[in-house]
Amino acid sequence: MTMSSSSYSLFCIGHPLIDMQIRQAENLISKYNLNPNDAILAGERHEPIYEELAREHQVAYVAGGAAQNTARGAAYVLPPDSVVFAGCVGEDELAEQLKAANRREGVLDLYQVKKGGKTGACAVLVSGHFRSLVTSLRVAKDLDEEHLWSARVKPFIDSAKVFYLEGYILTHRPEIAIQLARRVSESNKIVVLNLAAPYIPRLFNTQIQTIAPYCDFIISNEAEAEAWAASNGYRVPMNMPSIAKAIALLPKANPSPPRTVIITHGSQSTTVVSVDQVDVPRIYPVEPLKEEEIVDTNGAGDAFAGGFLGAFLSGRALDHCIKTGHNLAAMCIGQEGPQYKWPRVEILHSGDDI
Ligand code: ADP
Ligand code: MG
Repeated sequence: MTMSSSSYSLFCIGHPLIDMQIRQAENLISKYNLNPNDAILAGERHEPIYEELAREHQVAYVAGGAAQNTARGAAYVLPPDSVVFAGCVGEDELAEQLKAANRREGVLDLYQVKKGGKTGACAVLVSGHFRSLVTSLRVAKDLDEEHLWSARVKPFIDSAKVFYLEGYILTHRPEIAIQLARRVSESNKIVVLNLAAPYIPRLFNTQIQTIAPYCDFIISNEAEAEAWAASNGYRVPMNMPSIAKAIALLPKANPSPPRTVIITHGSQSTTVVSVDQVDVPRIYPVEPLKEEEIVDTNGAGDAFAGGFLGAFLSGRALDHCIKTGHNLAAMCIGQEGPQYKWPRVEILHSGDDI
């Protein structure tokens, strides 16, 4: 690992979490009254779930957190020393596990470590091909703005070309992410926002409105896109190209590059709309995985974003970036949790064979 910031082109920021994953979670899903395919923040009535999982179930502990999954995904595609991840962890064993996973998979972590704090955790309850995520952020929500602009982190902000922000960071102290996006977009760097979960556009629409002018790419899945449309007064259901167009047309501070919106839709086609061709949606089919190829879909969207960014920073055309995103998502779905396949296989889509 070099200590110079100069080679690091991708700066990711979000809530670092450890996933506590169990399969065949139908009983827990009904016990805690959860939706099988959802992502929520733990309320008081969910808090006992982490203890219960650790005590009574076969838990797989895997590195998680949306932007951190994407960071590991992009690092999978890019040369060594390309990707950093900033977030806040506690002073505990879970943080050590996350650091080790990042090191192993080529992500340099720029963690703020909260003395005596506890690292965030996400209960991942898998049932069939669905997964219900229950997150307890703990110190993940406590990242301080000063950390970002500290002597350790700022050089990486200065050297990065692309910034990837998970929508979850708009839930607490949103001004930190908004300031970051504003400052870097003023320096003509690329800002990518992922809407992350339906409750983000549902409950934090104002924050999305505030950060959107600084975002060059906005990525979401179909459920987040629909939640965004509903929050913004559109009559839903609405087709994906229309939602993508509406998001693409949100005000933008810096007209160049024109905003591009990408909506994935599980095994269905991915929709891409750029504001310079707002009535010409591009539709990219997904090759549906066979039943027996699906281990779990947790992290598919994060992996898509990782593949996309890896290809983008490798200078690939948009078509190749989408295809690389699909490839990495398919790989992730074939693994337990938001993981990639090691030893590494070539994933970057190259050539003209779209
Ligand atoms: P999220 O994980 O955020 O819900 P999606 O469900 O839209 O995101 O999945 C992201 C990407 O993962 C898709 O665009 C596709 O490439 C891939 N993917 C998801 N489900 C399948 C599937 N059943 N077969 C093949 N690819 C899939
Ligand atoms: Mg999905």
